[in-house]
Amino acid sequence: MTPEEIRTRFQEFVGDEDYINFVLSLYDRFPRPENLHLWQEKLLTDFSNKFGTDPINTTDVYKIFSHCPIHDFELKPDKVVIVNGNEIAASIPYEKERELFPLANVNAPRDLDRFEYPESVEVVYCERCREVKNAAQHSS
Ligand SMILES: [Zn+2]
Repeated sequence: MTPEEIRTRFQEFVGDEDYINFVLSLYDRFPRPENLHLWQEKLLTDFSNKFGTDPINTTDVYKIFSHCPIHDFELKPDKVVIVNGNEIAASIPYEKERELFPLANVNAPRDLDRFEYPESVEVVYCERCREVKNAAQHSS
């Protein structure tokens, strides 16, 4: 299966809601952790077993699920500043943001479990998410 076929089959297999959750959870920690969540690994194993494909390891996961689950745009790398969560002006509720432009990633929230962190961090973003976020902020 090509990466695109895997994405399509996987989305059909787990359903839209879990698919969106699965992909967004790959990219919502900064810097990116080495291991997937256990529930993510379980979905991948279930998928491989069901379709008889090779197991999908962590490296492959990021190559395969490299598209915004909302807009299907290919994700691009960027370097953004890390901010304290309290400093982000939340003009749009988090739930709406996750629904409309989850991968804008114009900055990265600080990982509160870490004592030390760099000023900036590598992220991936969806161009369409950034456009939607921009438009939403300017109209509010
Ligand atoms: Zn997007």
